[in-house]
Amino acid sequence: MPKPKRSGSGPEMAGPTTVPANGAAIPALGLGTWQLRGDDCSAAVKTALAAGYRHIDTAAMYGNEEAVGAGLKASGIGRDEVFVTTKVWYEDLAPADLRRSAEASLRRLDLSFVDLLLIHWPNSRLPLAPSIRALCAAKRTGLARHVGVANFTVQLLDEAMAAADEPIAANQCEYHPYLDQRAVLSACRRHGVAFISYCPLGKAQVLGEPAIQAIATTHGRTPAQIVLRWHLQQGVAAIPKSGNPRRIAENFAVFDFELAEDEMARIAGLARRGGRMVAPSWSPAWD
Ligand code: NDP
Repeated sequence: MPKPKRSGSGPEMAGPTTVPANGAAIPALGLGTWQLRGDDCSAAVKTALAAGYRHIDTAAMYGNEEAVGAGLKASGIGRDEVFVTTKVWYEDLAPADLRRSAEASLRRLDLSFVDLLLIHWPNSRLPLAPSIRALCAAKRTGLARHVGVANFTVQLLDEAMAAADEPIAANQCEYHPYLDQRAVLSACRRHGVAFISYCPLGKAQVLGEPAIQAIATTHGRTPAQIVLRWHLQQGVAAIPKSGNPRRIAENFAVFDFELAEDEMARIAGLARRGGRMVAPSWSPAWD
């Protein structure tokens, strides 16, 4: 993973606002939309964009692409200002299916391209290389400005890089203080691939940790802001989900303070065996 780019200076901008990704620049803080549906989803997207977010994460599987598209439109923010990610479900990775899935996502979003098209999960029952080449073809034909993967282990990322004939911009994976992701983080760094943290708040389960609460008190911040700042200072992007306007704004107000090295280490020290929260039956053999 390349070093994050600081797009500001001085105390009002303590950290990167974009993460470099093999030619892409991914806004470091995005809105997750899993489980947001219909008008609630459109309203959350509109609220987030008004609060300053410029990165929205959806997927074909979330069943909310129409609502995300409606929220984008209602925001009045120009298309070229927002980084939109969608994903192809793991059962649609045969090349013709992948293309059809991407085209259907664009129809539902009412967009002519997405900024990032991800393979949502690897599928051990399909050969990887043809899927990666189809993903790259989706970029060449203009369906996506950038392409990438999600839930890829070190070995799968190596295989994807070997098969790709376009840059792989990102690997979106679960990451929060309960989960040690050093192996995947270092593979991403080695390949120049951005790491995007999903479940960055550990589904809000990490927020009650005494260590995180103590650091929050020190900085006069909320536990969620401390955890999101911890992600950003590692040079990763994070996509917290909230449907609540107050928490949507709270989660974005993380660019004006800095955690000390010992605070970063104390939060990382919360990693534990069994800390993974998302492990469906089709998961790869995790690192
Ligand atoms: P998160 O870690 O983002 O946690 C979301 C939960 O935290 C919600 O219950 C939310 O409630 C609560 N919350 C949000 N902000 C705050 C706050 N400031 N204080 C207290 N509670 C808060 O988990 P997700 O599972 O939603 O992951 C985030 C996103 O990552 C998803 O929405 C999706 O876009 C993506 N994702 C990708 C996956 C993949 O396979 N690639 C898998 C899983 C997720 P409320 O809404 O009420 O605020």
